[in-house]
Amino acid sequence: MSKEFGRGATILKSGNSCEFYTGDWKVQYPDHLKDKCKNCMMCVPYCPEDCIKQKDGILDKIDLDYCKGCGICANVCPFNAIEMKHKDE
Ligand code: SF4
Ligand code: SF4
Repeated sequence: MSKEFGRGATILKSGNSCEFYTGDWKVQYPDHLKDKCKNCMMCVPYCPEDCIKQKDGILDKIDLDYCKGCGICANVCPFNAIEMKHKDE
């Protein structure tokens, strides 16, 4: 089923893209496996949406409100600590 979208390209004030939670576009999502994660932060700069958050040298969370489910983070993780799952899983 397709989603109804309003008119695009409406920038009423700077930085208003934060108000659009585009994470529901995705069909798969990254599952962070904390037991395998070595906190190397390799995944952080590769995320095109800047939604992998670190705190005090630890991977804190993946912000699924903005994640598009591209899978880049899972591909670059050298420890297989991110697994892509279907959104219905
Ligand atoms: S690349 Fe993998 S091991 Fe490194 S911080 Fe990200 S999830 Fe953890
Ligand atoms: S799946 Fe893509 S958008 Fe989502 S956290 Fe990973 S790299 Fe970022």
